[in-house]
Amino acid sequence: MMTKFKNVFLTVAVAVSFPAAIFAASNCEFTIEGTDTMSYAKDGKPFSGPITAGSDCKEFKLTLKHTGKMPKTAMGHNWVLAETKELAAITADAAKAGPSKDYKPSAPAVLAITKLLAGGESDTITFAMGKLKKGGDYTYFCTFPGHSAIMKGKFEIK
Ligand code: ZN
Repeated sequence: MMTKFKNVFLTVAVAVSFPAAIFAASNCEFTIEGTDTMSYAKDGKPFSGPITAGSDCKEFKLTLKHTGKMPKTAMGHNWVLAETKELAAITADAAKAGPSKDYKPSAPAVLAITKLLAGGESDTITFAMGKLKKGGDYTYFCTFPGHSAIMKGKFEIK
């Protein structure tokens, strides 16, 4: 009799907690790839689409994987997040920083940034969503010189 009661209790507990856990995970993290052909990709296919974060996310976890083989000096990629209107100023700032500083912009307008990666490397960052507002116009892009012409997409909060 006690065993049967215990089983019912466990079933109910799992049914209640499981869907919430899946929902949070699918909206508060994203994995994007960088390629040797100067593009972002998702599951091996070129990707420049929006990344959508849930408006209830307190933090967002972003992983960038460079799936190519080229060195950082020739085909380095990073993932930088900022308001769309800041893109030009930030890429100019990154160019000024140069290769010795991995084209890392120092502008305060940068909301999130990964390391500059060579082929085969990956980096995961977690950033607070509190500094982003719902309905804001945000873009993610690569600050390696010239790359943001193609390597960019919108970051949305929904
Ligand atoms: Zn790049």
